[in-house]
Amino acid sequence: MPTMIAARLHAYGAPMTLDRIAVPEPRPTDVLVEVKACGVVPNLARVVSNFFGSLTPDNKMMPPLPAIFGLDPAGVVAKVGEQIWSVRPGDRVYVNPARSCGSCKMCRSGQPLDCPSFTLQGYFGRSQDIMRAYPYGGLAQFITAPATALVKLPDSLSFEAAARLGYFGTAYSAMRKIGVGPGQSLLINGISGQLGLNAAQLALAMGATTILGTGRNAALLDRVKALAPERIDVLAVPNVPSQSPPASGGGQGGGPDPLVVWAKTATDGYGVDGMIDCLPPGAPASAMMRALFCLRRGGRAVNVGAVLEPLPVNAFWMMTNRIGLQGSVWFTTAEGEDMAAMAGAGTLDMSVLEHRVSPLSEVNEVLAGMDERNGGFTNFVIDPTGVA
Ligand SMILES: [Zn+2]
Repeated sequence: MPTMIAARLHAYGAPMTLDRIAVPEPRPTDVLVEVKACGVVPNLARVVSNFFGSLTPDNKMMPPLPAIFGLDPAGVVAKVGEQIWSVRPGDRVYVNPARSCGSCKMCRSGQPLDCPSFTLQGYFGRSQDIMRAYPYGGLAQFITAPATALVKLPDSLSFEAAARLGYFGTAYSAMRKIGVGPGQSLLINGISGQLGLNAAQLALAMGATTILGTGRNAALLDRVKALAPERIDVLAVPNVPSQSPPASGGGQGGGPDPLVVWAKTATDGYGVDGMIDCLPPGAPASAMMRALFCLRRGGRAVNVGAVLEPLPVNAFWMMTNRIGLQGSVWFTTAEGEDMAAMAGAGTLDMSVLEHRVSPLSEVNEVLAGMDERNGGFTNFVIDPTGVA
């Protein structure tokens, strides 16, 4: 029986160990993928320390142990199930980890992201059944996945860059929901982190003409602006105290909020068409509220960030200003295909990413030391090939 090396977690809070296990056989509608690169998100360190499991008393969101994590695998199809006809061994692919049950009302109507059993393979989710059916994350040399999860990669898109598609896709799906497109203005709240930087790259690709971004680190903000100085503008905003801003969008001291003034000045006084919130865990609700107040009348906001505090939203203000606010999680395989096509055509430029590739044997060191000094510019990748 062929075997492989996988990094497995045997206990939350403990290091992963490299274990030799059997290479899985793909079921009739699945494929076997040899992993060449797997993206590592900073949040994985929190997940394997069971930060989230501790939030759910019965721990039903986390995969059964031992678990193989790894959210963003890219590689080469090694074998296909007997009912697969349009994917062949040798195809270069990204594996969208979004798993759904496939048979509920939402899945049957083509909305798998709305499946009540939605689960991220190699991470966590809402269905223990799905986690048992697809127990292979990208921190292993081979994984099985449904053929419907595959994003075919153009030759010009490297495995390392493809391993970033989780962040790109999360931003892309969210920005489509609020209609980011040609001639539109967009505020990216937290533009220099992983999500925010990828949102800026996509906004450029999608035709947005005025792209505004906030952040705390002025040097990183300057690097983001340098992507397209004529279309991107940035504003450093200090940490604001966690308190409710006035519903009018005014500043804390009664004067107008400098952020709102800046956004309106950049949009002929209207405010931005759209806002995507990409703030990191720990950011206060007030930081998101300030960005909401930058919307024009009729503007729409989407949240993919990690603000945990309740928002002091004034529903009357939202109604009278026709404000839209929605959440978004992950992206469909079809949206992944869009991004791969844009990258292949050169309209989505991923060249600014700095790939930091580590072997699978260093997975614990990578998780312990993910410095975020370069914000979203660093792309943390594990290469599971080569370990024996
Ligand atoms: Zn379903």
